[in-house]
Amino acid sequence: MKDNKKPRNDVLLAGQASEQGRNITVDSNAKHRARITRFGHLRQQSKEMSNWLFTQHDEARALDTPMGELMAKRFGHFANQLSGCANYLLFKHYYTLDKYKLSGLKTCKKHMLCPFCSAIRASKQATAYHDKMVHLLKENPKLKPVFVTLTVRNGDDLKERFYHLKDSFTTLQTARRKWLKRGNGHNEFCKAHGIVYAYEITNNGKGWHPHLHMILLVDDWIDKDKLSAEWYAITGDSFIVDVRRVKPSKAEVDTIDAKQQ
Ligand SMILES: [Zn+2]
Repeated sequence: MKDNKKPRNDVLLAGQASEQGRNITVDSNAKHRARITRFGHLRQQSKEMSNWLFTQHDEARALDTPMGELMAKRFGHFANQLSGCANYLLFKHYYTLDKYKLSGLKTCKKHMLCPFCSAIRASKQATAYHDKMVHLLKENPKLKPVFVTLTVRNGDDLKERFYHLKDSFTTLQTARRKWLKRGNGHNEFCKAHGIVYAYEITNNGKGWHPHLHMILLVDDWIDKDKLSAEWYAITGDSFIVDVRRVKPSKAEVDTIDAKQQ
């Protein structure tokens, strides 16, 4: 592979991964079986999403309008792509080690739509961030990783709730940056030296519930009650936050096997 070439995303090569020093795709027999089951479930979810897209395609076509035709074309395109995702998985068995290696897979790369690709992407990222975190913690032994969740009150308007969360988080981050620059307006977030975060949106029948999960590297334990009060002062309607200790020794992440929520 040439240096200026990006690695291919559609085929995850075990060789490539181990070249980067990540022993991510070697598994024992039992783990291999569990992994196949997990892949099977994800694949089933992708199939279901594909079927839903096909129904949208049919409904759009039934409108019998130019716009409907355009939408049908797009729905059909994505439905086909997801339907063929992960049809092909290649495992190699290393009998001297009794280990299985995922040697290649063909996926649709539509991670925003496809549960299988979303899972693969998430686990790749988890490994990459885990490696970075371990490195940073070695370099800075005073830092501690904590898992923080920020939530906003449920609501029926997803867009409104999502931006409420996003804007409130921006306010929290801006306050931290001001504190770093000018030294005033300290909040619990100022204890963070590094942060990785991801939005998650759920709906369990009681309205939309967007929330933020994040790992912070902190120099001092975050006071949950203080953070909750600060979060309420910003959001005006939400005070539920969660703070948990992360034990890096137990945070071993297997790229392919990282569990999906
Ligand atoms: Zn896919």
